[in-house]
Amino acid sequence: MRFDLVTIFPEFFVGPLDHGIVRRARETGLIDVGVQDLRVFTKDRHRTVDDRPFGGGEGMVLKPGPLFEAVESLLGYGVGDASGPVPLPAKTAIVLMSAAGKLFTQEMARRYAELDRIIFICGRYEGVDERVAEYLASEEISIGDFVLSGGELPAVLILDAVTRLLPGALGNEDSAVNESFGGEIRGRASAGGALRGSGLTGPAPTSAGNAGLLLDFPHYTRPAEFRGWGVPEVLIGGNHAEVGKWRRAAAWEKTRRNRPDLLR
Ligand code: SAH
Repeated sequence: MRFDLVTIFPEFFVGPLDHGIVRRARETGLIDVGVQDLRVFTKDRHRTVDDRPFGGGEGMVLKPGPLFEAVESLLGYGVGDASGPVPLPAKTAIVLMSAAGKLFTQEMARRYAELDRIIFICGRYEGVDERVAEYLASEEISIGDFVLSGGELPAVLILDAVTRLLPGALGNEDSAVNESFGGEIRGRASAGGALRGSGLTGPAPTSAGNAGLLLDFPHYTRPAEFRGWGVPEVLIGGNHAEVGKWRRAAAWEKTRRNRPDLLR
């Protein structure tokens, strides 16, 4: 899978892509990452990428010209204009990072993992000219309800979430299934009975709801006793059926406690 990052800070990506699963995926050729310096596509002596907002107000806005040209040079063809827009190739997304975008989810990460190519546009300052969102990007995505100073961190975050879902990226393929947001409540937890048996409480799920997902179950490792705090007995007992039951119940309880919105 190919990722490209369009940015005014190309050096930003030196560290974040050089560790763990993302690093290994790059080294083994599972992913290929290109960083595109936006300033290459400016035409003036000062390499200007931004300008003042029409209508007045604070801050600067990234101009459409260099962003369109940067993406076009990556695609290898022009995306057209108002009189003749050119469609994107199949299995390609152009993702504009934006606090005003649609909220990124694990479900989206799974959809992106099916693609061949993602081009990320990283905003800065007050944001980017709206024509980039309307006529260049295929999607406008936010990573959460807060405002950051640039789209670089959000782009890395999505790249990471997508990369670890690619077949072969994780050592153990199963680990991408049994984790937070990995499956539906109905498929994972028959919460009622398991909850009662484990001392955990909470109502049985009534429906899968809009999200219908559970968070991961709690994990423990050695030592079995740490500063006087133990681990749940059932995990040490070696009874796999009981362990499975406990984990489903604990995942349900944790979701109820930390993310009740997922159960609605
Ligand atoms: N004026 C904008 C914020 C601009 S922040 C607003 O109020 O919505 C500058 C850049 O940071 C944005 O263009 C975007 O690329 C990035 N950014 C900030 N917060 C983000 C978020 N929650 N998700 C994704 N990108 C974000």
